[in-house]
Amino acid sequence: MLKHNTLVFKILTALILGCDFNRSRISSTTNLHHATLTSLTTELKLSGELQFDNLHHAAKDFGNRYHLLPAAILHPKSVSDISSLITYIFQMGPTSGLTVAARGHGHSLEGQAQAHHGVVVNMESFGQSQGMQFHIHGDKPFVDVSGGALWINILHESLKHGFAPKSWTDYLHLTVGGTLSNAGISGQAFRHGPQINNVYQLQVVTGTGQVVICTEDMNSDLFYGVLGGLGQFGIITRAHISLEPAPKMVKWIRVLYSDFTTFTKDQEKLISSDSSFDYVEGFVLINRTGLLNNWRSSFKCKDPVQASRFFSDGKTVFCLEIAKYFKQEDAETIDQKIEMYLSKLNYNESTLFVSEVSYVEFLDRVHVSELKLQEKGLWDVPHPWLNLLVPKSKIHKFASEVFGKILTDTSNGPILIYPVDKSRWNTKTSMVTPTEDIFYLVAFLSSAMPSSEGTDSLEYILNQNKKILEVCESAKLETKQYLPHYNTQEEWRTHYGSQWDVFVRRKLTYDPLAILTPGQRIFQKVTSYL
Ligand code: FAD
Repeated sequence: MLKHNTLVFKILTALILGCDFNRSRISSTTNLHHATLTSLTTELKLSGELQFDNLHHAAKDFGNRYHLLPAAILHPKSVSDISSLITYIFQMGPTSGLTVAARGHGHSLEGQAQAHHGVVVNMESFGQSQGMQFHIHGDKPFVDVSGGALWINILHESLKHGFAPKSWTDYLHLTVGGTLSNAGISGQAFRHGPQINNVYQLQVVTGTGQVVICTEDMNSDLFYGVLGGLGQFGIITRAHISLEPAPKMVKWIRVLYSDFTTFTKDQEKLISSDSSFDYVEGFVLINRTGLLNNWRSSFKCKDPVQASRFFSDGKTVFCLEIAKYFKQEDAETIDQKIEMYLSKLNYNESTLFVSEVSYVEFLDRVHVSELKLQEKGLWDVPHPWLNLLVPKSKIHKFASEVFGKILTDTSNGPILIYPVDKSRWNTKTSMVTPTEDIFYLVAFLSSAMPSSEGTDSLEYILNQNKKILEVCESAKLETKQYLPHYNTQEEWRTHYGSQWDVFVRRKLTYDPLAILTPGQRIFQKVTSYL
């Protein structure tokens, strides 16, 4: 017992003190890891395989700024492959220094799915080899999917049964495990909560290699810990995702506002209503030339003459983006309904643009932009994104500081801004939000031009992000980062605030050696203290 307590104390000390990312204790152990892992292949009876060459893919992500090579990639064929690997590493004890990171679609921004000299688990290939089981009878229809399944594939499969998940991200080429480790927020979150609020059950492999089924009632501490838990407590191998009957079509609408207060008032009005639109988002548009002309290729303008007199050049304007889902049998009445909803809003009337698209086209809309950017070689550039959650009471101060003073002439990508209401969410998960019920997601989705030294260079954008964070701090805006990224444990402690102790306790319970997800840089596997 005493021995056990001493070990726990040492691990606790190591976890809490060992988080200094400027020291790289791991680098000298590469060869050791390689030797260890090679012997592992023969020792473990894997149905999948460990790959030791061509590892560069696992050292890349969408952010395109962090490139940490692993020692190996595991291509699992079964949950027991993942469990055996982690069990083995756990049993080696703290001296091995080996870590494990699940990699979904690798669309992290700062190396969060990478494992320097560790093992990256290819969840996406695992997802492709696993089936989806639909349970659509009863009052809580759901689909049982792999943690490596892509949301776009879940959408297509669900539609074959006439159902679909309720809560999405703007982009669907992401995995279930990747978005559930963060939150999964989009324009449906005001009604259904983020994706982490739409899960009934998880199968998780913990940092000790245990395979655990968890729900709200069974192993609930692990269930809530893993949801929004940044991969710290376990690898999600399966999830039951809640479904609803799927609509067929979508009226997709954009309108503009010149005044920020009117814009946010309308957004807040919409998210507080149960019978209005099904999706509410918004953008900030800074000094955009030919904005409405660009929309004409995919949207129909209600008043082309007036719209041609609207100029956004040199101005900051705000776009409300809303959508109403409908079924074929409602096609005749839907326009009337929408007119009624729109009559309660105060947008600039000449800027009403409407499009009618299929549900799939609407949900998969960002993929269309991806293909265009890929064609121009502009998809694989660095993405210094900054995502913030800003309390409602501070959003005006935030806007006047950021859009009025920091981003004045242009932006290097879309800026999303829309409110959500946390009072409808389950707040037991690991996700960190501001304390106010209503807060805004503000996402600066910048792309940096690799050879540029100007306002679209990586350095310039990172500096701009830094200024935005500094203003949040100095003006006490009480913002929280979404898809958070920090360099020191002190910053993580501040991020989690009163939730920090629970976070640390869960780490000690489910991943006591800090084997999992080192790329989040919250805890570091420590070898030298023990
Ligand atoms: P990865 O980048 O592979 O992994 C992300 C993190 O989760 C890593 O730490 C990884 O180790 C861990 N992880 C991965 N799989 C598992 C698993 N099975 N179990 C446990 N941990 C795991 N987010 C939103 O909320 N809303 C949006 O609208 C939105 N739009 C986006 C649009 C684009 C174009 C991009 C690139 C990202 C967007 N995101 C959005 C962010 C996105 O949700 C996260 O970056 C997400 O983590 C990416 O999923 P992934 O499958 O690529 O995960």
